Amino acid sequence: MSTKLTDKTWFIYYKGFQIWLSSEQAEATRALIKSGSKWLDIEGRLLKLEDCALMKGEDNDRAEKLRRGSWMCEYGHWHTKNDECAHGSPFNNK
Ligand SMILES: [Zn+2]
Repeated sequence: MSTKLTDKTWFIYYKGFQIWLSSEQAEATRALIKSGSKWLDIEGRLLKLEDCALMKGEDNDRAEKLRRGSWMCEYGHWHTKNDECAHGSPFNNK
C-alpha cells in the first residue's frame, strides 16, 4: 500500500460524518453539485446532495484547534492553550 501522505484535503460533511476527498474528487463533486444533481456516489455511498457541504480540510483543522483551546496570535502562529506568544520578542528568531 502507498505510504505517501494523504492527498485527501477536502471533505464532505454529511449528517455528522466526514467523508474525505482528494482534490480531484472534490472537483468532480463540485461540478455535480453545480449541475443540480440530487445524489452523490462516493465509492458506493449514496449521499443526498442537499444535505452535503463540501469543506476544505483546513477549515476542520482550524475548528479542531480552536476546540482544543489553541489560539492564533497576532503574528499568525498557532499556540497551544497555555502557550505564551514570544513572536513579538526581538530575541525570538523562529
Ligand atoms: Zn505567537
